Amino acid sequence: MCPQPILYFDHSATSWPKPPGVAEAMQEALLEAGGNPGRGAHSLALAAEHTVTRARGDVARLLGVPDARDLVFTPGCTFALNLVLKGTLRRGDRVVVSALEHNAVVRPLHVLAARGVKVARVQADSEGHIDADAVERSVAASATRMVICQHASNVTGAIQPVADLADIAHEHGAVMVVDGAQAAGHLPLDLATLGVDAYACSGHKGLLGPQGVGVLYLAPGLSPVELVQGGGGGPSEEPAQPDIRPDRYEAGTGNTPGAAGLGAAARYLLEHGAEIERRERSLTRRLHEGLLGIPGVKVLGPAIDVPRAPVVSMTHDRIPPDEIAFSLDRRYGIAVRAGLHCSPWTHSMTGTLETGAVRFGLGWNLTEDDVDRALEAVREVCAGS
Ligand code: PLP
Repeated sequence: MCPQPILYFDHSATSWPKPPGVAEAMQEALLEAGGNPGRGAHSLALAAEHTVTRARGDVARLLGVPDARDLVFTPGCTFALNLVLKGTLRRGDRVVVSALEHNAVVRPLHVLAARGVKVARVQADSEGHIDADAVERSVAASATRMVICQHASNVTGAIQPVADLADIAHEHGAVMVVDGAQAAGHLPLDLATLGVDAYACSGHKGLLGPQGVGVLYLAPGLSPVELVQGGGGGPSEEPAQPDIRPDRYEAGTGNTPGAAGLGAAARYLLEHGAEIERRERSLTRRLHEGLLGIPGVKVLGPAIDVPRAPVVSMTHDRIPPDEIAFSLDRRYGIAVRAGLHCSPWTHSMTGTLETGAVRFGLGWNLTEDDVDRALEAVREVCAGS
């Protein structure tokens, strides 16, 4: 139970609350469609199969994926990234990666580097943007199998030119993999035209679904060969994992209630997503502008007029981030996150590796009044009152 009325600004970690329909769809999956999808032909198994198929179709519509079979349900964005990186990269392959990535990319690459994958990092500018020309120079310098970049930063909100990077990757015979954890549900997205080969999403952040479910878009031309896991599912009982989508990548019984919740969230976003994006953009600017007006506060990342995802991180010249976050929580009931946000590479770039930052993650349910209350609280905390 929620201990006190909370003003929730931690949507970048996980969205809360969830929109109407999500909890109900999960409950319905448990109560009325509780069979095992794809295992058996009795009515509850068929109802579960229908639940998963419907959810996949709705998420595909939301993300602009023409064939829903190219969307793999995973336990989250981390799993999705592991699936595509470890499934595709082999000893001797070279990968070009932005120097801003989350540990969900950094750590699998660390494992792969120990297996003989060569990793080349491309630095960002002072606002946290990756320069497409710098990526092109790196890709052109040596044969490259893969380019990896996040779509939006979980620390600075900076949006990266992933469509341009995909063009560059393809011109040089590489595939383009995008970490969309902080973009999906917050930025307009049409994967059919974005041109990337793989796009990984958390279900529980901007997509407004429950925790424990994510999606990986795999363009028809990219089929990771090495499987993170093999097991039951698909039409045959041969020992080799069936070579059909999405079954090949969804061995074992999946998270049916999670898929149901994510499907309901996708339907909500299909109806309200454009309005939510507009509101999040305007609230993000309002918060950014307000923070800049507080003495001693520095906002990380892009300048005020540059579009960003709804993430605003700040530091103060005197008060450490964890103290600010603690005061906001205990004195005002405002939930933010302080620390390194699983992104030490980005904190190195912003010069905050020692201290971390206070992060405000905005989301679908917040209002101007909420932002103004948060700003007033930060003002008071930073004034030491
Ligand atoms: N990538 C980025 C940029 C993130 O912000 C996160 C989560 O915070 C992830 C990947 C991992 O997402 P998940 O924890 O849902 O697997």
